[in-house]
Amino acid sequence: MEKEIRRNVGPIILLGPPGAGKGTQAKRIAEHYGVPQVSTGDILRENVQRGTELGVQAKAFMAGGELVPDTLVCDMVADRLRQPDCERGFILDGFPRTAAQAGWLDALLEHEFFDNTQRGRCLPIVIGIDVDYNQLLLRLTGRRTCPTCGRIYNVHFQPPRVPETCDLDGSALVTRNDDREEVIGERLTAYQLQTRPVAEYYELKGRLVHVNGDLPVDKVTEQMFREIDSHSAASSS
Ligand code: AMP
Repeated sequence: MEKEIRRNVGPIILLGPPGAGKGTQAKRIAEHYGVPQVSTGDILRENVQRGTELGVQAKAFMAGGELVPDTLVCDMVADRLRQPDCERGFILDGFPRTAAQAGWLDALLEHEFFDNTQRGRCLPIVIGIDVDYNQLLLRLTGRRTCPTCGRIYNVHFQPPRVPETCDLDGSALVTRNDDREEVIGERLTAYQLQTRPVAEYYELKGRLVHVNGDLPVDKVTEQMFREIDSHSAASSS
């Protein structure tokens, strides 16, 4: 698909339970529209790995499948969105995850992005990925990641050619710490309790659009591009 590099894309927010395919779709959107993927889970994991102060504070919450406190995550997101590569837009993957984070983000976007003509002027689009619960469990328990190139596989749906080995660079695939079965239940509960209200928050504001995440990956991507294109055409007209 042709790359779109001219227009402001604005903020794109992906919502959906763990395993809905937010990371995979975010990478495709990033590639197509030339805007960065901002994954709070990835940034937190990187901080844990590097042993930064943020990483040390976040580690225990993440290992237990709990949400990291809002103050830590919001500061981290603000720093990231102020980077120059976010000027034409960005894709938020894994944020906001609580109603408090959603309210905080609205205020940030209003003050720092929409009042400033140098920045993208599109309103945020919020895309909810709907997935069947049993599909989610298979996706999460089957997920494997390449520690070298970051490619994501699934032993049930998209297995590598050689079991547990990356097709691209031959590295041994790993299971994310929080994709262990005992942690998955916690993550899905955290989603039900805290993140579902985020979808309701945007629904009430009339900003939430839905895509069917049970369809094959390419079909989900097509639906996303359609929604983003019609949203940014409407915002710029
Ligand atoms: P993810 O890769 O998005 O599933 O995130 C992995 C873990 O990072 C979550 O289970 C949380 O512990 C933490 N995390 C990621 N994003 C957030 C957020 N927006 N708010 C709080 N905790 C988060």
